[in-house]
Amino acid sequence: MLRTRGPNAAKIAKMTISVITFDLDNTLWDVEPALIKAEQVQQQWLLQHRPGAVDAFDQEALFEFKKSVWKRHPELLHHVSQMRTQMLYELQIAGGYSEEDAHIGAQQAFDVFLVARHKVVFYEEALSVLERLAQRYTLGALTNGNADIYKTDAADYFDFAFSAEYIGASKPHPAMFQAALKQTGVAAEQIIHVGDDPEHDIRGARDMGMHTIWVNTRQKTWPDGDRADREVENLRQLPKAILDINDHR
Ligand SMILES: [Mg+2]
Repeated sequence: MLRTRGPNAAKIAKMTISVITFDLDNTLWDVEPALIKAEQVQQQWLLQHRPGAVDAFDQEALFEFKKSVWKRHPELLHHVSQMRTQMLYELQIAGGYSEEDAHIGAQQAFDVFLVARHKVVFYEEALSVLERLAQRYTLGALTNGNADIYKTDAADYFDFAFSAEYIGASKPHPAMFQAALKQTGVAAEQIIHVGDDPEHDIRGARDMGMHTIWVNTRQKTWPDGDRADREVENLRQLPKAILDINDHR
């Protein structure tokens, strides 16, 4: 049978990897130091401007208080920023402040939290790797947290970003990955999702038909279940892992 080259070649070109989506926290930076610092400045703000609110609780009682807010507001489960603002509001109400003061205070305390939360320190190699990848691929961010990639030093490298807050669902929910598909207009198999969370990132993306790379900077053991297509311990290994997937897909 005579074989034509055209459609085949077109198909191969079509299936080339063209989009890389990234988880953010613990994939491009360690999130814990920024979160700890952000909690501290938020606490400082409350102590200074709303005495009697947060200082009425010891650490354990404060955690119980937070849990009760989470329980009463399941609708804010995927809205981490709104959930935090609600908690800050209720903390001040419990401390005897008026609704108006509590509203203003919640917003201001959250603002100082958010500024500190964005002072993330990228993994040493992250920015140069992202710069290199951005020359060749469309880069996107998919985060369940409240970090905004456009408020970081990597802003220039990203073509799009979706947060669980914006989508109204958290990874591994398909809606997060569908947002990337819709945004880019490519097929799922042309996307590689890169992330540190076996469930949220790897299973979630794989279920959507995307390729996956597990970022395992902490040398963790893979839990049960199907592994990612590739694994890296350092982002420097990423360009090669992407090419590998592209060549073996
Ligand atoms: Mg993560």
